[in-house]
Amino acid sequence: MSDVEQCVFCRIVAEDIPALRVFETDEVLAFLDVNPLADGHTLIVPKAHVVRLEEMSGEMLSRLTSVIPDIARAVIAATSATGYNVLQNNGRDAGQEVQHVHFHIIPRRPADGLGYRWQAGKYTGARATEVQNLIRNALG
Ligand code: 5GP
Ligand code: ZN
Repeated sequence: MSDVEQCVFCRIVAEDIPALRVFETDEVLAFLDVNPLADGHTLIVPKAHVVRLEEMSGEMLSRLTSVIPDIARAVIAATSATGYNVLQNNGRDAGQEVQHVHFHIIPRRPADGLGYRWQAGKYTGARATEVQNLIRNALG
């Protein structure tokens, strides 16, 4: 079976498996996450199969992300959330379980217990400028 044939989000796009759809264009589909972190947890996906964000052109990504404000506004209105997180994971080590690009809209409320703070580090010595130069050089 090809990547696309076995991809759960491609199967949702193709209506091969059901999903609770909330928004759709020619290129973009938004639907409720089947295992929500909160009521209204919504996923936004490109209809084309792309695994990771950096595989997309800037134009394709712009068209995908251009729907986020309207969907976020609607999710907030529908769920009376006071805030939301936009989460987008790339690669299994970053927690990406479904290998098809998706943005999470996760509604938040006071003391909802979800948390989000990660343990931040500190640069020592010349490491920050080394990393800065490595990234600048990689950008060419
Ligand atoms: P990831 O960890 O890859 O960023 O998130 C994948 C998300 O997709 C998870 O939150 C998971 O609950 C959701 N998900 C996985 N399979 C399905 C499915 O078949 N239908 C829906 N609606 N959501 C799914
Ligand atoms: Zn796919």
